Amino acid sequence: PYTYACHVRADVFCMCTAYGEKQELVDIVLSIKKKIDEFPFVYKVLPSFGISISAEREPSISYLKDCAVIAMNSIKGKVFASYAFFDDEMRRHQLRERQVENDIVSALQEGELELYIQPKVDMHSGRIVGGEALVRWNHPQKGMISPGEFIPVLEKNGFIINVDAYIWERVFSYLGSLQQKKRHLVPISVNVSRVHAYDTGLCDTLLGLKEKYQVPVGYVPLELTEGAFLEDEEGMYVRMKFLKSKGFVISMDDFGTGYSTMNMLKNQPMDEIKIDRGFITDMDNPKCRIIVRHTIDMLKDLNTKVIVEGVETKEQREFLLKCGCDFAQGFLFYKPVPVEEFDRLLYSQDKSCHFC
Ligand code: C2E
Ligand code: MG
Ligand code: MG
Repeated sequence: PYTYACHVRADVFCMCTAYGEKQELVDIVLSIKKKIDEFPFVYKVLPSFGISISAEREPSISYLKDCAVIAMNSIKGKVFASYAFFDDEMRRHQLRERQVENDIVSALQEGELELYIQPKVDMHSGRIVGGEALVRWNHPQKGMISPGEFIPVLEKNGFIINVDAYIWERVFSYLGSLQQKKRHLVPISVNVSRVHAYDTGLCDTLLGLKEKYQVPVGYVPLELTEGAFLEDEEGMYVRMKFLKSKGFVISMDDFGTGYSTMNMLKNQPMDEIKIDRGFITDMDNPKCRIIVRHTIDMLKDLNTKVIVEGVETKEQREFLLKCGCDFAQGFLFYKPVPVEEFDRLLYSQDKSCHFC
């Protein structure tokens, strides 16, 4: 049998060979690595090898290569691992991603994507002061799928732009209907994927919805995950400032998970910051409590509205109130609920409030 080797692109090479035992493949990899190690480069070269094997006599080379790349990426940057086999877990993961990609287009057309809203509350009174729109996929076979399972796939292939726009439209339409019924409006924030934040059509889509539903845009705060501000800092600030000038409220999501820098806060165009759930979950850790307390102080001094995500216990609520934080979103108060249920909660709150 022949062995083929080729240069794919940049520093990526490929080799295809018949084998008897898996160990033979490992031996090839280790011998290449040894030769690289011995070569007198002035810098250190750390090769990563992805290996995919096939039991077929005439396997699809391009599929084998794709699988090898997935295996290779699983160890890229890891100094102590030089090779990885494409395994069943990777295969299952790949299948799940393919399925999401195949099913999502019809899911959007068939109305399988649903709008859920998680109430945001004033922690002193427990009153609902707003909500966050969260997508749910009600799959005909698999049941309810949470966004964590499909959004990363859609961010890779760009389809998240369509899903985001659909959810935004549902939110504008809901607020428009409240307005028509002369009901009390509360802000319902929407998530803006980092992919979307770089899309030139972002501002037009949002302003188009404002025109269509005649909803004051201050009622649709835009939640951007912290990391999005770091990739193209300049461009992002320009776009966010433009949307701000049009009346949108900018909210930074998941604060503290990424690489928040003091510099970012110094120049920040954000009106609101959402402290990530991770800090709240870790509240037993005394260091975490110090960080949360001082972060809240600092943000308030910077005139930024602070909201805490993931409040699950009364102790967390008490502590946060002591820190001067007034607003929260968390299972202690409400879980995300279908928009119809949110509407009922809001309606009964308004009916019982004589000042609204
Ligand atoms: P996120 O924007 O940070 O949303 C908050 C997430 O925290 C929601 O998860 C919510 O259910 C969960 N959460 C809130 N309070 C608690 C709590 O007390 N305990 C626990 N364990 N969890 C709590 P969900 O709905 O699964 O959404 C996950 C992420 O998916 C969101 O994080 C957001 O980044 C993304 N996402 C959801 N809907 C959309 C969408 O329409 N567009 C985009 N681009 N992203 C979305
Ligand atoms: Mg969010
Ligand atoms: Mg968040």
